Amino acid sequence: STVYLNGEYMPMHEAKISPMDRGFLFGDGIYEVVPCYSGGLVGFGPHMDRMNDGLKAIGIELAMSHEEWKAIALKLDGENDGENLGIYFHVSRGADTKRAHSFPSGVKPTVFAFAFEIPPAPVADKSKANSYSVSTSTDLRWKRCNIKSTALLGNVLHYQKGVDEGNQECILFDVDGFLTEGSSTNAYIVKDGVVITAPLSNALLPGITRFMLLDILRKDGRIKVEERAVSREEFDAADEVWLTSSSKEVGPVVAIDGKPVGNGEIGDVWVVAQQLFSEGKFNY
Ligand code: PMP
Repeated sequence: STVYLNGEYMPMHEAKISPMDRGFLFGDGIYEVVPCYSGGLVGFGPHMDRMNDGLKAIGIELAMSHEEWKAIALKLDGENDGENLGIYFHVSRGADTKRAHSFPSGVKPTVFAFAFEIPPAPVADKSKANSYSVSTSTDLRWKRCNIKSTALLGNVLHYQKGVDEGNQECILFDVDGFLTEGSSTNAYIVKDGVVITAPLSNALLPGITRFMLLDILRKDGRIKVEERAVSREEFDAADEVWLTSSSKEVGPVVAIDGKPVGNGEIGDVWVVAQQLFSEGKFNY
């Protein structure tokens, strides 16, 4: 496959970075993943805005416009096989000559992008949808989860707990028992027809799918949306539970720690929400 590295396109096996790269040594970088369905990018502008926010938050200076990023995305889409691709963008602080915690001066960020195949876009059909079973855990990650850092060890360990327990995600609760998010997704409950998700804070990633879904639901107006703290008790008593991420879109959760959510089947509010999302997702 063809990848992008520091201004050039090349076969993946020719892409080389220094072992002194701070992305490698410290996980010192920011990343994004943007879905691309038959050439159509989902949420491109918001994804790039979030990447710029992250770069700013960690003090990496990089002068790359949305247009330059988009040209890379479309080039990778054209050069790589597959109708449906995830476009991965990664900026690390770059390669120093020594291993020191302090930011090096005069070092250029490392910019990397590649494309990988993703499943076809989810459809709002209970009989065809992927449903998810999840584990739960106390959120043991750092306190700046709003930054989309490449340092994902905390997320990886939580996700792996889910896998080890036969599930596809792990939903996290802070030390006071309030919902934060999943290890790779944002999380929602539906109670009496109202969609409820944790408010944005440094405890969770401001998901682009979350932003688009809430915007789409509010503009449609049929389903009420609340951004507020969700306790573990409320979570366990939910009628429906959903996950969102760029590749899952709105993912229905049917089991939590081996217990069914509601009647254990995909819910009716999910159908409406995923349908609206499918219709609106290319408008961002
Ligand atoms: N939370 C975490 C921790 C994530 O890694 C992701 C996926 N990047 C999300 C939420 C969902 O974000 P998005 O909708 O932007 O893919």
